[in-house]
Amino acid sequence: ERGEFEAFFQPLFRPSNGRIVGAEALARWRHPSRGLVSPAVFIPPLERSGAIVDLDLAIFEQCCRFLRDRLDKGAVIVPLNCNFSRLHFLDDSFADALKGIVDRYAVPPSYLCAEITESAFVEDFDTVIGQVKRLHEHGFSVAMDDFGSGYSSLNMLKDINVDVLKIDMRFLDRDDRRSKDIMESVIRMARWLDLPVIAEGVETREQVNFLLDVGCSYAQGYYYARP
Ligand code: C2E
Ligand code: CA
Ligand code: CA
Repeated sequence: ERGEFEAFFQPLFRPSNGRIVGAEALARWRHPSRGLVSPAVFIPPLERSGAIVDLDLAIFEQCCRFLRDRLDKGAVIVPLNCNFSRLHFLDDSFADALKGIVDRYAVPPSYLCAEITESAFVEDFDTVIGQVKRLHEHGFSVAMDDFGSGYSSLNMLKDINVDVLKIDMRFLDRDDRRSKDIMESVIRMARWLDLPVIAEGVETREQVNFLLDVGCSYAQGYYYARP
């Protein structure tokens, strides 16, 4: 209500040519006396109270406004990813609500991607799959966030209709051969399933070289840019 929450953007890159192909919106609280507050501090209480639902929609709306503003200026736009708490998926009108917002800003829905954390799929598979279907019907794309952090089996992937997988390199042990083998297998398997992979948390040139070796489509992390 006071407009203190703000979307920061962290660009997504194609490691093969170093070009920006999108960005993820990450919420920040610009607190009047405490300064910039991290989501690690405010997301858990907002999840507990349920107010996260309103925050997510406010960040999504800021993304639509940003895209509209750039379109009006004749500037180039790239697709933006927004994070959505699992609490949205209990609500059957979730996809319709997002469609209402993009329409209000006359932004093409194909420029917005909903990031859904892997654990939401694990907890309530059928409900979340149904929501993904509705998001697709409205023209949005969908990413599975935090892939490999939880309990999803690789087997589950064949039944999941997402457009892209996000794997966080920080989940892997930096110099461990086995971690690299696992990441490589997951990327290869995703390729068989025609699923592009975004590697997140990319911090070093060595990691970029590794991603180029194994044919990872997209990368995001401090190596390229901070939010
Ligand atoms: P996430 O969706 O996995 O977002 C990626 C986090 O990794 C971001 O932290 C980002 O700043 C950080 N990061 C990116 N590259 C690097 C890197 O190379 N190294 C390291 N160490 N960190 C990197 P952030 O912005 O603090 O967000 C934390 C989490 O808060 C997000 O994790 C997401 O789960 C949640 N979050 C943020 N904004 C929103 C929102 O609008 N709605 C919801 N529901 N959750 C949000
Ligand atoms: Ca995310
Ligand atoms: Ca993530």
